[in-house]
Parts: sequence; structure tokens; C-alpha cells
Amino acid sequence: MKIGVLCSGGDAPGMNAALRAVVLTAAEGGAQVEGILFGFDGLIDNQTAPLLPEAVAGLARHGGAFIGSARSPRFLEKDSRQQAAEHCRQKGLEALVVIGGDGSYRGAAVFEEETGIPCVGLPGTIDNDLEGTEYTIGFQTAVQTALEAVDKVMDTAESHGRVFVVEVMGRDAGHIAANTAAAAGAHAVLIPEVPHQVPALLEFFKRYQGAMRRRPIIIIYSEGESEVGREDLVRNLRTSFPQLDVRSLVLGHLQRGGPPVAADRILAARLGREAVLALSRGFSGMGLGIRQGQLVHTPLAQCKKRQLPPEAYLLELSSLGLQEWKF
Ligand code: ADP
Repeated sequence: MKIGVLCSGGDAPGMNAALRAVVLTAAEGGAQVEGILFGFDGLIDNQTAPLLPEAVAGLARHGGAFIGSARSPRFLEKDSRQQAAEHCRQKGLEALVVIGGDGSYRGAAVFEEETGIPCVGLPGTIDNDLEGTEYTIGFQTAVQTALEAVDKVMDTAESHGRVFVVEVMGRDAGHIAANTAAAAGAHAVLIPEVPHQVPALLEFFKRYQGAMRRRPIIIIYSEGESEVGREDLVRNLRTSFPQLDVRSLVLGHLQRGGPPVAADRILAARLGREAVLALSRGFSGMGLGIRQGQLVHTPLAQCKKRQLPPEAYLLELSSLGLQEWKF
């Protein structure tokens, strides 16, 4: 058996660990793996490379996606997908493992439906916003990276008694923000899933502004937050509370990089291994994931963007910090 593997959409730490597990599990069963370079574009352009076990040795500890990851607007067109299928046939690829988010899963589902080439999806996205799994590959690392950055910001915020508004990633999901805020002991968190958070925050500032002067205050702002823009929030705080020193920081792409934490490496390896085992048993059209510690298979069409908000206890913990400066 010959399997193609690709990473698609935004990269996530742990994709390499998944690639390694796919290649080594295939080798264990006598199958070959072809790496498709830069997502679905690599299939359309016939840019692939054989992945031998030695090529993935030691790869689990590296962030990023060593075969490249990309968005491919061309793959939205049927003609391009037919071309991709033709290249699969030429190279003898009998199945595909697609590592990415809900968009990549949609691509995999339509490709399998149109061409009959079996596809399996692995949840590779830092945002943790995918149905079919409780955790996506890369999420825990992104939270840890954001946490370490916020810890450092907290040090300087303490020294100068400043307010920091720190923007973290997550597209339109607040999981990175809520987890980072709860772990960091931040003072407030603004996420897209919760409406009407800003008036209460401003009211708190108004009431306790005297006690807050020269105090470190960290507000975690999720990039998908729509109630107020980050810059508008900072402007508003500066205008309304001129005695507070308000600063703003966007963590940005550093949240995508770095060595994956243990939980992401193990998740990626477990799912990567399962992808090959599932294909060899004849299963396809599924997104793989973990639920309550168990491996689960969910039809790709059902693995949509997850709408479930972060758990309420995380939000409670994230606002607890404000009590530090109340008295
Ligand atoms: P993610 O997988 O992280 O959600 P995107 O939404 O950008 O990222 O999707 C990644 C890629 O998946 C797209 O660039 C495109 O190549 C492919 N894709 C997304 N939706 C479809 C679709 N409806 N049909 C075919 N391919 C799709």
C-alpha cells in the first residue's frame, strides 16, 4: 500500500509528530508514504517526495510542518481536484492522510467523494475548534506558548504597574484565550463566544480605578473578539482612565511555533498511527480524534467547526484576578 500525507491550512505544533507516526506505522506494516508538499497545492502541482523512516527520525520534537503546509484556493475548483486525483493515480497513491482544520477536512471529504480515493483527517489546528475530537493537535502547545509570553509580560507589568491588553490567536474561537487567561491568573478575558463583556469590565475599572493605579492588570483579548476592537479598547481605557498606564501587545505567529508539548506529541503520534491502521483496515472518510481518552472516528462531513464555547469554569477563573485589586 502507498499512502500520501499532507498538511493543510495554518500550521500547528505536533504536525511533524503526526507525520513521523504515519511514516513509521506504515513502515511497520510494509507500506510506503509519499509526502505531499505544501498542502493540496502539492497534489495539484505533482510536488511530492517519498518519506522514508530515516527522514522522520527525531522529528516529533520539532514545531512546524517539514513538508510544508498551505491554503490552496485552487483546490476549491473541481478541475484542480481532478488534476490532483490524476497525480495520485500516476504516483500509485491509494489513500490520503490530511492533517488540518475544518476547511482541510471539507477538501478531503469532497476529494474522496469525487475520486473514490480514501481519505482520513487528522485534527491539526491550534484553535481547538473542530468537531470529532476534544483536543486538536497543537492547541496545548499554543496555550503553553501564550502562557509563557504572558508570564513575561506580567513581570514587566508588575515592575511598572501597567495594564496590558494581550491579544492571542484562536480565529473565531476563544479556547486559547480562555485557557491562557485561567492559567496565567489574568484579570479579565474577552472572547468571541461571550457577548456584553466590555461594559462590566469598564464598570469594574471605573469603580476600582483608585486601587488599580500602579498595579499589574492583564487583559487577554482573543483575536476573534467582535464586541470591541483591541485598539478601540486600549484607546477607550486610556481616555477613560488617564492615570492608568495602558499598553497593548499582539502575540501573533510565535504561538504557532516551538517544540510541541508532551500532550500534543502524544496526541499527534496516537492519531497518526491510527490513521494508517484505519486505512489498512479499510476505513476512510473519517476524522480521527480523542474523546474521554478513547480514539474516535467521526465522518468527515460531521467534523465541522466546533461551536462549543470554552468551559464556564475557565471564564470564572479568568475574571477572578480582578479581585486582587478590589480592596
Ligand atoms: P483549515 O483547514 O485550517 O480550516 P482552511 O479553511 O484555510 O484551513 O482550509 C484549508 C484548505 O482546505 C483550503 O485552502 C482549501 O484548499 C481546502 N478546502 C477548504 N474548503 C474546501 C472545499 N469546500 N472544497 C475543497 N477544498 C476545500
